[in-house]
Amino acid sequence: MLGWEPGMLGQSGVEHRCPRAEPPMASGSDSSPTTAAEAPPPVPGDKMAVFWHEGMLAHDAGRGVFDSGSDPGFLDVLDPHPENADRVRNMVSILRRGPIAPFLSWHSGRPAHASELLSFHTSEYIEKLVQANATGAKKLCEGTFLNPGSWGAALLAAGTTLSAVKHILDGHGNLAYALVRPPGHHAQPDRADGYCFLNNAGLAVQLALDSGRAKVAVVDIDVHYGNGTAEGFYRTENVLTISLHMKHGSWGPSHLQSGSVDEIGEGKGLGYNLNIPLPNGSGDAGYEYAMNELVVPAIDKFQPQLLVFMIGQDSSAFDPNGRQCLTMEGYRKIGQIMRSIANRHSNGQVLIVQEGGYHISYSAYCLHATLEGVLDLEAPPLDDPIAYYPEDEKYTMKVVDMIRSCWKESVPFLKDI
Ligand SMILES: [Zn+2]
Repeated sequence: MLGWEPGMLGQSGVEHRCPRAEPPMASGSDSSPTTAAEAPPPVPGDKMAVFWHEGMLAHDAGRGVFDSGSDPGFLDVLDPHPENADRVRNMVSILRRGPIAPFLSWHSGRPAHASELLSFHTSEYIEKLVQANATGAKKLCEGTFLNPGSWGAALLAAGTTLSAVKHILDGHGNLAYALVRPPGHHAQPDRADGYCFLNNAGLAVQLALDSGRAKVAVVDIDVHYGNGTAEGFYRTENVLTISLHMKHGSWGPSHLQSGSVDEIGEGKGLGYNLNIPLPNGSGDAGYEYAMNELVVPAIDKFQPQLLVFMIGQDSSAFDPNGRQCLTMEGYRKIGQIMRSIANRHSNGQVLIVQEGGYHISYSAYCLHATLEGVLDLEAPPLDDPIAYYPEDEKYTMKVVDMIRSCWKESVPFLKDI
């Protein structure tokens, strides 16, 4: 193991090894300030534009023991796959009927064209998905099922996210939220992974680059490592990918990346992938500390012209798929921090993209809180119905301090943060 990970912080004291990084090539070391001068001016009283299409409910990953799709034969009741339509139905309904409703406008999504997918994915991979769809239900990798209806939903998720970023790029508004499923951040250029087929956010980032935004920053707070997005931009200095996640490591042939702090990009992209693996149970105070001590300084140094905020409510205290302890308060705070970063660097422009989040009701509440934060609403309009777990923020803070010292030693453009 080359890098340092949270588990290496033992009782005997602080111990870490940082990755050794060579300075990037001259063409990749340009960290000179770039303004968002080309970006449209802020829109006063901007509502958040929500992009959605109910055709995405057609993806059904089936039932089984949690996400396995298997029936052992001795259980009377099997779980619906955690990435199911109901979780998103609640997200739609809380935004339509919850206190945040007056601050949102609704826009219809659309399916992506196959040609649009090639900006992020290989043609061989897309052909493989088309063939898989044509020949019936398929398990593409662990927990990831392409059933009848899945491909259409995946195309809608990709196209809807492209519509959302275009809304911003065309100057129609500063805040857009792509409420999409199936999720995308594990989908790599040439493979499906972790319930994901197409990398919705990755496609949007590439469209922003192709539309003239020279630098885009991505912050992913889903509880899992956003390995697909990172992989897509691993060798470019134009996209800073930052992922806060629980320490889960590699999980097999579809997900070779470990999400550890030593995966910092390659070639021109050296230093432009920042992983923040947090201890299980990190909670609101720990996440806020990580945002303020790591994410904010890195983005301030990078100076992006667009911010992409990938949200997953599986980092909540009650998610079946995560072991972190965020509550609505924590999500609200993260949303506020993201908005303040956007106000400094991208004229307040933030594209938000939905990823995981599997507790059927609490995911919707946490989504509501996150968007309250991004909208910078003064008084929290919605109370947390169930937050009560304790958290160990001191341990998380030690971990964050260790990651910061690693970054200062090993990430060329962050040496003086
Ligand atoms: Zn996740």
